Amino acid sequence: MKFALAGNPNSGKTTLFNNLTGSSAHVGNWPGVTVDRKEGTYRSPSGPIVIVDLPGIYSLSPYSPEEIVSRDHIVEENPDLIINIVDATNLERNLYLTTQLMETDCPVIVALNMMDVVRKEGLVIDVDILERELGLPVVPISALDASGLKDLMERALAAVRPRRGHSVLDASPMAPQLRRAVEMLDERRIPHPVFHAVKLLEGDALEKKEFRDRYAADLVERFDEMKEHIALSDDMEGDFEAAIADLRYRHITDRCRRALVRPRRAGERTLSDKIDSVLTNRYLGIPIFLIVMFCVFHLIFSDNLLGSGVPSPGVWLQDLMSTLMDQVIGLVDAGVAGLRASDWARSMVVDGIFAGVGAVLSFLPQIMMLFLFLSILEDSGYMARAAFLMDRILRCFGLSGKSFLPMLMGFGCSVPAMMATRTLEDERDRRITIMLMPCFSCGAKAPIWAMFAAALFPQHGDVMIFGVYLVGILTAIGAGILLRTLVFRKDSVPFIMELPAYHMPRAKNVARELWEKLRSFLVRASTIIAGATVVIWFLSNFNPSLTMVEPHGAESILGVLGTFLQPLFVPLGFASGPDGWKAVVAILTGLIAKEMVVSTLGVLYTGADVSDGALSAALAATLAATFSPVAALSFMTFNLLSVPCMAAVATARGEMKSARWTWFTIAFWISTAWVVSFLIFHVGSLLT
Ligand code: GDP
Ligand code: MG
Repeated sequence: MKFALAGNPNSGKTTLFNNLTGSSAHVGNWPGVTVDRKEGTYRSPSGPIVIVDLPGIYSLSPYSPEEIVSRDHIVEENPDLIINIVDATNLERNLYLTTQLMETDCPVIVALNMMDVVRKEGLVIDVDILERELGLPVVPISALDASGLKDLMERALAAVRPRRGHSVLDASPMAPQLRRAVEMLDERRIPHPVFHAVKLLEGDALEKKEFRDRYAADLVERFDEMKEHIALSDDMEGDFEAAIADLRYRHITDRCRRALVRPRRAGERTLSDKIDSVLTNRYLGIPIFLIVMFCVFHLIFSDNLLGSGVPSPGVWLQDLMSTLMDQVIGLVDAGVAGLRASDWARSMVVDGIFAGVGAVLSFLPQIMMLFLFLSILEDSGYMARAAFLMDRILRCFGLSGKSFLPMLMGFGCSVPAMMATRTLEDERDRRITIMLMPCFSCGAKAPIWAMFAAALFPQHGDVMIFGVYLVGILTAIGAGILLRTLVFRKDSVPFIMELPAYHMPRAKNVARELWEKLRSFLVRASTIIAGATVVIWFLSNFNPSLTMVEPHGAESILGVLGTFLQPLFVPLGFASGPDGWKAVVAILTGLIAKEMVVSTLGVLYTGADVSDGALSAALAATLAATFSPVAALSFMTFNLLSVPCMAAVATARGEMKSARWTWFTIAFWISTAWVVSFLIFHVGSLLT
């Protein structure tokens, strides 16, 4: 059996999905997090049930690619049951979708979610009245507390039986035409007759096209004629879709509202409203956001917590981790020596794998702390406010504010963030957002910032990293304006965003998020990064005719390659000198995966010293001796803005559905990286 979860964005579908199936899909306190359907299994006493988590939708007349996924799943794949999740704190708006779902022939059950909030705010909802007015079973639940779920699934199983769709429009001025239309569809045995009849009378463009292709072209014309005879309210003359939406809302406000026994008083301000009057204040909002982000960086990367001279928790943990790593490397080194392994095998294990992977792993505590803070900010609902604030700024520059939500996801990982652009209706907005994605520093880049913070800016690591994120955001604004004016000439569409209610971040959500990040980090470290360090070790120890040369010398294969490309990077300030090719090689491996930048520098810069048992210290010392602060900033900027990783390229290719655009995007990434790094190096050199 297959049950589909359908509901408005941010109504709690994914939270319910995770609770029912034990999965760990990403839950975010803003709309548009789920863009593809996800499947999992719920073990009911009468056998397994497949649960499908669908992207959020406000109606069954889709506009964006993610909404089409949901609509098609519901009317074409015929799930055995639809669980319609309704945010009970926002009943009237959420029921709009319910009035459309009930028109399909699928069995529908309403899960009245967020009941914990309803109770806390002192609202009261009469479930019996709601059931009667909707003609559907209604079960109060709280997906977050996992309460009411057993009841929901029992009633859901009982509701799986043939059902005939019904419409709230049955009692409206268009009832006679609707009845006639349904009869005509019934005669031809077309599935979901009520649903299709309403959509065709509405004049839904996608529906007309699909219906013409799949069922009967002549009926589309007949229905268009019938529409002429429908006398809707005079003021709605002409705009049929709006008139029908109005009828649905009128039904909800006239009848379902009775279920709200103690509704919110008009003008009553919720706690969220009060918090928002400060946090999204026109003047205070942005400064508060910047201060919040700076505090996060200060807690993780500062060597001087609140000016006390004590390292921040992040730096303290990082020191601990490096000491631990050094101990492990020392032990392994001794072990390998005891095995009488050949020199090159010992070098591969210790100078290759351990130096490379170890360099990345030593920053793990700081990366996890960064994710901890970001997911607390996200789950509480604050990040959605950040998007709202940025929207105001972006709109001044003619960019669509809706793009900022996927961009915000880009701080985690570019791959799901690029997929999240499916929430944008406009193809040009999607492309522009994908092209700007590297500007939002993803988790895999964080070890690079942490490495330079520790090596070159120990006193001001927090300021430096804050600066890197700001450079990214400013570049996004600049490059966005440039793309708008040169490539995609168009006005931005107005964007209405709904702000989710604040709530205390739940330990369970945050812990699940962290565990997922930790797991994927460790998996990547032990597979792609470990594998690639062996390759790098090999390429930096052998020359093109495959004889072993002095480690990390200019005669090695990487040395030859790096030296060849070196002139391209000399103007950026970090590639000059006899060792300059090493930075070039790190840039190149970074195109594959960003953690590789750190592991490559780990192999190339520390190899010889690792046996002393102080990997981080050796790496930091070499970096400090090789890079001037301005050159380091230029190097970081290039890594920030150029090709994020191969997975991101593949995703961009998939989302843009065009090889030409993908090549253009790659060229755009590399050239912005070059230009901005150039500016940073030369302006920075003038200033210092
Ligand atoms: P989706 O967009 O419909 O998939 O919604 P999510 O599952 O991502 O949830 C959106 C937000 O609502 C998250 O911050 C959840 O923690 C929160 N949420 C979901 N269900 C409940 C609930 O029953 N009570 C409360 N208080 N919050 C909930
Ligand atoms: Mg979701």
